[in-house]
Amino acid sequence: MSCEVNCLEYDVVIVGAGLSGLAALQVIQQHSLKVAIIDDKHELGGNYLKRRWLIDHRHSFNRLLDQVIEPSTDVFLNHQAIGLYADNSLGVTDQQTMTCFRAKVVLQSTGARELPEQFEGWQLPGVITLDAYLKLRYIEGIIFPKRIGIVGAHPSLPKVAQNLREEGHEVVLASTNQSVTAFGKDQVKKLSVDGAKHDVDVVISSKGYVPVNELAHLYGYPLKYKKDSGGWAALPVDKTRQTSFFVAGRASGTQTEEESVQSGIQVAHNILTYLEKEGEEHGSESSNRMSL
Ligand SMILES: Cc1cc2nc3c(=O)[nH]c(=O)nc-3n(C[C@H](O)[C@H](O)[C@H](O)COP(=O)(O)OP(=O)(O)OC[C@H]3O[C@@H](n4cnc5c(N)ncnc54)[C@H](O)[C@@H]3O)c2cc1C
Repeated sequence: MSCEVNCLEYDVVIVGAGLSGLAALQVIQQHSLKVAIIDDKHELGGNYLKRRWLIDHRHSFNRLLDQVIEPSTDVFLNHQAIGLYADNSLGVTDQQTMTCFRAKVVLQSTGARELPEQFEGWQLPGVITLDAYLKLRYIEGIIFPKRIGIVGAHPSLPKVAQNLREEGHEVVLASTNQSVTAFGKDQVKKLSVDGAKHDVDVVISSKGYVPVNELAHLYGYPLKYKKDSGGWAALPVDKTRQTSFFVAGRASGTQTEEESVQSGIQVAHNILTYLEKEGEEHGSESSNRMSL
């Protein structure tokens, strides 16, 4: 891909508008920089929107975000960063057209992806991930059948099992170090745990989360764990690169919402320091515009 026409120019492009991207945005916006935030979902908030308590308060949350986002910030919803042009500009699609974003800094705050626990029979219909269960149960309002198997290493699974038992479900909870097999022809029917067979209607399976780091790989930025960056961070790069790259939130390995917000704030300060140094070295346009 080449990027010769219609390239949008920014000081900072934030990819991912979850808690970490929004936290970073809030800090960066205060410094008269040209900023864009991109998210592939139709609204801001990322996975935070899946929280049970927020479902009834979505309207208030959106109103709050409207207050937080400065009019000078460009917000691109339903836009996904999918690749790079030859000159390292970011290729972003709304599924119909491609737009090119050229930025001094790209912040990747793209969250994490859930992995299902794999065991014999894990691909049977009726075996679903924890995220899928939470979405169906709390957002779609689906009432689940009586007998539920739960398999995997995700730390929330014992709590999910407890909640389901309190709601009257029969729950079989299996950890990863047990021998687990699911049986059934067109739909999961039984779960064998260390040889003991249980009737089940649905199995929830979750191994945990892996950071979504495709952009770091595309840019060729190696990631390294750095405590002062709050998690995995892109290694400093040679000065020939036109775009500097930062990582925040679950993409950098944070586990909780609090950590994600803190990481967004911390990384935003690192970005400001970087841009300030760049401005001093090159006397660039951005340093004139910045008011640090
Ligand atoms: C159902 C559920 C319940 C949870 N409950 C809790 C809890 O009780 N307590 C707690 O501390 N944490 C909880 N979490 C985790 C919490 O949501 C996260 O820690 C936090 O929201 C992560 O924020 P983030 O900004 O790192 O990522 P996310 O919120 O995942 O945001 C990343 C955003 O980037 C977008 N994106 C990804 N790739 C691209 C791309 N290429 N282009 C454009 N956009 C892209 C994604 O669609 C998403 O909107 C829960 C998560 C889920 C799913």
